[in-house]
Order: sequence, then structure tokens, then C-alpha cells
Amino acid sequence: MKMIFLGAPGAGKGTQAENVSEKYGIPAISTGAIIRESVKNGTEAGLAAKSYIDSGALVPDKVVIDIIKERLRDDDCKNGFILDGFPRTLVQAEELEKLGVSIDFAITIEVPDDKIIRRMSGRRVCSDCGASYHIEYKPSLDGKTCDKCGTVLTTRRDDLPEVVKSRLEVYHEQTTPVKEFYKKSGKLLTVIGQEEVKDTTALTMKAVETGILMSSGTKD
Ligand code: AMP
Repeated sequence: MKMIFLGAPGAGKGTQAENVSEKYGIPAISTGAIIRESVKNGTEAGLAAKSYIDSGALVPDKVVIDIIKERLRDDDCKNGFILDGFPRTLVQAEELEKLGVSIDFAITIEVPDDKIIRRMSGRRVCSDCGASYHIEYKPSLDGKTCDKCGTVLTTRRDDLPEVVKSRLEVYHEQTTPVKEFYKKSGKLLTVIGQEEVKDTTALTMKAVETGILMSSGTKD
């Protein structure tokens, strides 16, 4: 099963992609996480991407497309995958088709901007293993360190309110055409983000089941 998670930064697509990954045993591939890892490791691609990420802009299409091309060659993608945060532009969506990757369905998680801005200010991340938490909705066990590796949690620079606002502008401008792209081909499923993560998870799981049924119907 090959699926895409769309949604504004902070809409919860990363959390939901992880849930679905665990349930279906397919990898959740986050281009944002891969890029942050390259920045941390100081690779050439990472250094080139840093200023874009820090200002809330999108990294150039070519850089992200190369990252995805390489990642999809890995063995764990053979039985399917979840793309979290890719494609984010129409060029990226078209490029995915050119690569011969046939997506079964795309899920968009919809949350109003004002809620997102509130949520993002509470997000905390582990700079070591990349795990993501929220002071209110998904706190780590002690509220300070990562449950997985014990590293002290921090706020991502691009989660600062002024950067969040510009990320939302970029999202609406660049990613709305991507939603339209999947809608036109009848592959778009919408999940309305709920106050409680568990409620969004339940709706997401339903959407995935619908997507699986839809795509198996198409293949028969
Ligand atoms: P995320 O963790 O998905 O919110 O991504 C964090 C940042 O990584 C974004 O604000 C972009 O700068 C960059 N990024 C992630 N995915 C993409 C993509 N598909 N295209 C361009 N930039 C991306």
C-alpha cells in the first residue's frame, strides 16, 4: 500500500503516519525528518537546506526529489510506504508519477490555522532520535526528556510563532494544488483533525481502511 499524508505543519500528519506505519508494518517516510538529520550531520545537502528550514521556506524541489528517490530504493519500501510531508508542491507530485510510483490514496488532515499556531508552540522534539512530543497532547513520561533515548527535549526553531505563520502561508500556497491533484484523480480522503489525538487517530484509521478498499476496487 502506497499512501501520502498531507496537512499543514502541526496538523498531526507525522503522528498519524507513525500510527499507520506501526499498524500496517510499512515505513513512514518524513522528508522533514530526513532533511533535519542531514542538517544535524552537516552533509552538503543539509548545509544547503538549513537556511530554508530555519526561515520556514520549502527546500528546493530537486533536493527533496533526490532524497525521496534514494529512500524509496531501500528494501523496507518493497511492500509499501507512507509519505509524510512529500509531495508538497505540484512539481513534486508530478515527479513522483514520472518515477513510476503509483500512489493508492492521499489523506489530508485538516486543522484551522489558529489552532495550529497554538499547537506548534507546545511541540517539543528530541534532537537526537527525532521523536516528537507535545506538552499538552502527547507529553513525554517525565515532560522533559525523550522516552526513547533520554535526550533533553527542545523546541524546533521552525516551530517559533513567526516562522509557523510563514510556514502556513507557504503550505496554503504550494500544497493546495497538490490536494487538488489527488482530488481530481479521486484519491483524496479528508480527515478533520480533532481536539484529542486519539479521535483523530480513529478517523485516520477509518480513512486508511476506506483508501485500501477504494484502491483494491480500482485494481480488480
Ligand atoms: P516538516 O517536518 O514536514 O514540517 O518539514 C520541515 C521543513 O523541511 C519544511 O518546512 C521544509 O523546509 C522542509 N521540507 C520537508 N519536506 C519538504 C518537501 N516535500 N519539499 C520541500 N521542503 C520540505
